[in-house]
Amino acid sequence: MRVYVARILFPIKVLGPGDRLGIWFAGCNHKCKGCSNPELWVQKKEWKMEISDLLRIIKIISGTRRIDGFTITGGDPFEQPEALNELLCGLKEIADDILVYTGYRYSQIKDRYSEVLKKISVLIDGPYIEERNRGKRLKGSDNQRIIYLDSDIRKKYLAYLKGKHADIQNFSTGDSVISVGIHLPGYSDDLDRKAKEKGLLKNE
Ligand code: SF4
Repeated sequence: MRVYVARILFPIKVLGPGDRLGIWFAGCNHKCKGCSNPELWVQKKEWKMEISDLLRIIKIISGTRRIDGFTITGGDPFEQPEALNELLCGLKEIADDILVYTGYRYSQIKDRYSEVLKKISVLIDGPYIEERNRGKRLKGSDNQRIIYLDSDIRKKYLAYLKGKHADIQNFSTGDSVISVGIHLPGYSDDLDRKAKEKGLLKNE
């Protein structure tokens, strides 16, 4: 089976406890105002890949360094539920801690995709509402809920969530920067302004 995945990054330290491997699914119909990844609303053909190939790459990474968990975001992973289900089966063999973001409310998917949800440890549900972004860890906006589908993992996440504000992690891809984490509204204008001040971007 094939899946539209736009990027994988490792190690991600700002979207869950430990050194995580982040997987960005492509495709989203929610189109939330202020979404930090609008480029992932569409499914480009160059992002389509065999799940077996994706798992092979992830297994190579896990052979060089421990992966503490996975964070699957996007896009909305639940726009490709069958592919998500197959991918989760493979990921479970590497690490048990799997956090998944979705723009759907849990009540909208819990019956239809119960088999998929059984393989997820933590679900963060609901659309992003820019006006309700409080800059908290894991939650883009405070309408979203952190749902512990695997109750054994709750303690580990509560420790991670304690006190601190959301952090940002930037990855250089050579010709651009991918900024990961819970960004406050306006972060991209702020980033542009700082880059221009440093002469990294031209003023229009
Ligand atoms: S659900 Fe997520 S990816 Fe989709 S538009 Fe909303 S914030 Fe963006």
